[in-house]
This record gives sequence, C-alpha cells and structure tokens, in this order.
Amino acid sequence: MSDELETLESAARDFELSADFDFVDPKRLSAVIDRLQGVLCRVVDGARSRGDHLLAGQSACSWVANTCAMSKNAASDRLCVGAQLKTMPRIAQALSSGEIGYQAASVICHLQEHVNEIGARIDEEMWIGNARKFSLKDLKDIAVSTWHGVDPEGFCRAVEENFERRQFFISESGGMFRVDGWLDPEGGAALESAIDALAKPLGSDDRRTPRQRRADALTELTHHALQAGTIPRRNRVRPHITVHTTVEGLKGELGAAASELQPGMPISSKTVQRLACDGMLSRVLKADSQVVDVGRATPNVSPAQWRALKARHRTCGFPGCDRPVSWTSPHHIEFRARGGPSTLRNLLPLCHHHHRLVHEGEWQVVQAGEGVTFIPPDHEIPRRVRSPGVRWAA
Ligand SMILES: [Zn+2]
Ligand SMILES: [Zn+2]
Repeated sequence: MSDELETLESAARDFELSADFDFVDPKRLSAVIDRLQGVLCRVVDGARSRGDHLLAGQSACSWVANTCAMSKNAASDRLCVGAQLKTMPRIAQALSSGEIGYQAASVICHLQEHVNEIGARIDEEMWIGNARKFSLKDLKDIAVSTWHGVDPEGFCRAVEENFERRQFFISESGGMFRVDGWLDPEGGAALESAIDALAKPLGSDDRRTPRQRRADALTELTHHALQAGTIPRRNRVRPHITVHTTVEGLKGELGAAASELQPGMPISSKTVQRLACDGMLSRVLKADSQVVDVGRATPNVSPAQWRALKARHRTCGFPGCDRPVSWTSPHHIEFRARGGPSTLRNLLPLCHHHHRLVHEGEWQVVQAGEGVTFIPPDHEIPRRVRSPGVRWAA
C-alpha cells in the first residue's frame, strides 16, 4: 500500500470521526468523492494497461468488478471514464476541480468513446458548459442525439447490440412469482404505457400502493389477453390457468385439502371461488389417486350470457370504477361455488381488482331492488344495519 493512500485513508478516517455532519456542505463533500471516483477510473485503467486482469485470468471488467466490489456495469463505466479522461485533459481537470460531477464526466466520456469509432473529437469546453447548464437527464439526451448525429451507423449498431441483452425471467419463489428482466426501448415503452394506464386508482377508496397497482396492472393485462382468446394455442389448447381442487375445497369447507394452481403452489379457497366465477369447470373423478373419468369442460357463463351482461353494463359494477366492461369478468353475486345460478340477475361484471375485493377481500355484494350495494367487511365498518327487504347474497 502506498504512503499516499495511507495518508488519504487516515484523512478520511479523521474527517469521519471528527466532522460535525450537521455542518458538512454536501456539495463540497460530493465534489471530493467525485474527484476520487475520477482517480479510481484512472487507477483501474492503468491496471488494465498493465494487464493485471490477465494475471487473474479474468476480463478487465470482471477484474474491476471483483476487486472493487461493484457491478459489472459500474466497472465498465469506470474503465471507459479512465480511458477517455487520458485524452480529455480539460474534462479531467473540470472533474478534479469540482466544476462538473462524476456522472456528467461519465456521460461525456461515453460520448467520446462512441464517436472515437469514426475518429471524431468532441469539443471539451462546450461539453463542460453543457454539463453545468443542463440536468443530468438532459445532458444524457443531448449526448445520445449528438452521437446519433455524428455516427448514425454506429448508433444503430449499438442499439442492435443492446437489443441482444433483452431478457425476461419469471420464477416461483416463496408462494409468489418473481419477475425480472430487460426490455428493448420499444417493448419497455409499450409495457410502461399499458401498465401506467391500468395502474391508476380505481374509485376514491382504492387503498393499494402505486407498486401494488402496477403489479395488479400486469396481472390484469395478462388476464385480459388470455380472456380475449387471441393468444396462439399451445398443443391445440388455449393458454389458461388450471386449478386443482375438490368439491369441498371449492365450497371452502373446513378440513378440505388446499387447492393448487400447480403442485406446491396452494391457493386459498376464496381465490378458488373467484376463479370458479368465470372459469371452466371440468369434473375429474379419481379412485385411489388414479383418474377414472374426466367430464367435459363447461363454461360457468355462456358466451350468450356474457354478451347480454356486457350489453347491460358499460363499466365494472363497483361504484366509481370506470374499468370498461370488456375488461371485467362475470361475478356471481350468490357465489357460483355455493350453487349461485348463472342468471343475468345473479351476474355482475367486476374488474380484476374489485372481483378480488369481493372474494378475497370479503366485501359483500347485496342485491337491493334492481341494483346492488357493496358493503365492506365487518372489520372495516364495525356496524352495519341491514335494510329491510335486503337479501344477503354471499
Ligand atoms: Zn366472483
Ligand atoms: Zn372495478
């Protein structure tokens, strides 16, 4: 370890121990950190030039990531900045003096790296001015359009290289599904716009957090695509979800075995009852764990009944919900799982969120005359007086 680094370490330690954090100027502290980031970039670039990573049998990026305990993206960024700062003395000086921050210097270095491909040089003084004048986001936008203007072919190549990085994962974990991935700009923008449109609060008492609404939006989008029946068939079967349950499980009887979406993923009887509202039921008879008979799958609500229901309603039946009826599914006011008939009077279109609220959330739908009333569960509103002539449906 060099003496200089020891001096820096002890200065940092002394500062941390003795400084009164209430009086530290964050702007100046940030400038010091950014300056040191610039130094780190030059140090790792020097190590790459010496071939330290080759001795370790790693790529330069992996070596930096492992050595400095950072992500590969961060490591690749430091290597780019280190290499470009050598050829841009004015940018290096602006970073050291705190004139521009590290992130702005990084944007400028990446731009220079891109235009290097066609032997172009950026105007350092002008870009320092840009970094001081514009927000980081605007600076990035200007850098991207400059790159595109200077080298459209290189830009296009890079976009296609980026496109190769697209990936999507969905895996089951702890009774939930986890999704993760990278989408190309067009796909990501399309998904974001669809999610944004579906993630708005539904009604005035929507208590879901924004992140919960976004998760529900993705589920709703998927259900809608499945229901539309336009997704290509797999093995001549329309994509769908299958629930394995028992008659007792469907009724939610005590002691019934848990219903499963797939082996090892149990779901509650309330969810089963919701899915039974608008799904297809098919009877499977088993004896000694062997399937002995499979009945024909029959829809709980016929296409004609669904069309009639859609003709009577324009939106979800929950008060204040504006989800169009084509985005709803038919709920049986007297639960289907408890023998409720699939008659128009017993059916009500509900969006995914409100359908869930009625089954899993234990809101009650009460028929009152020609209309219906929604009543929150007891623990939300402790006392509710039942109006005369009102029939409790579920
Ligand atoms: Zn239902
Ligand atoms: Zn709704």
